[in-house]
Amino acid sequence: MPRQFFVGGNFKMNGVAESITGIVNNLNSSKLDPNTEVVISPPALYLTLTRSLADPKIGVAAQNVFDKPNGAFTGEISVEQLKDAKIDWVVIGHSERRVILKETDEFIARKTKAAIDGGLSVIFCIGETLEEREANKTIEVVTRQLNAAAKELSKEQWAKVVIAYEPVWAIGTGKVATTEQAQEVHAAIREWLGKTIDSHAQETVRVIYGGSVSEKNCRELATQPDVDGFLVGGASLKPAFVDIVNARI
Ligand code: PEP
Repeated sequence: MPRQFFVGGNFKMNGVAESITGIVNNLNSSKLDPNTEVVISPPALYLTLTRSLADPKIGVAAQNVFDKPNGAFTGEISVEQLKDAKIDWVVIGHSERRVILKETDEFIARKTKAAIDGGLSVIFCIGETLEEREANKTIEVVTRQLNAAAKELSKEQWAKVVIAYEPVWAIGTGKVATTEQAQEVHAAIREWLGKTIDSHAQETVRVIYGGSVSEKNCRELATQPDVDGFLVGGASLKPAFVDIVNARI
């Protein structure tokens, strides 16, 4: 069975109730490719608003979750609380959290495990910095990030993971990876899935690309055999997000 195309929209720390309502209403009233799975990720404060407004076909993702079930963890949100708010997805390991908030591979892997154990699906973000790419360390870095998750997850749990390859140098910079650069890393990730998890994961786990995806570059990227969709930041706040969802039609 072919892998279902997946487009995520990461609003990051942008928007207030009025603008988020506008974005969701626009998506609800747009013609979206029925073969694309769409998941939007507003700031935590607007998760319940977004879930209540969005068409049930549109998934909603938190931008973070904590690895402990409850307790004295001021400012954190638990898996149970997300499930209670009818949220089914979470973005984990975004480079802004890895780089700015110094989240480690191990912490990210523990959060991924806690999320999946508690019934959430995970958009698991990985990717290299410019310095790492220039030092020819791209595959080494993404392999290290994936290996940390593989230590925590059972083989079956990979069915709940969408891997987002997001080169850090391409996020929010307007510098998109070339189709060849994206395909090369996606193919390496798929090979890693086969070697480290199993052939089922290799065939079925979706690997999406993120980093300055726009309505202008999405179609060409979407032609690549191992690009199963996108994680979109800036452009997910604009009406052009609909064109990215529809990149394959
Ligand atoms: C992101 O936030 O995951 C992202 C890819 O951002 P942008 O599309 O703005 O580069």
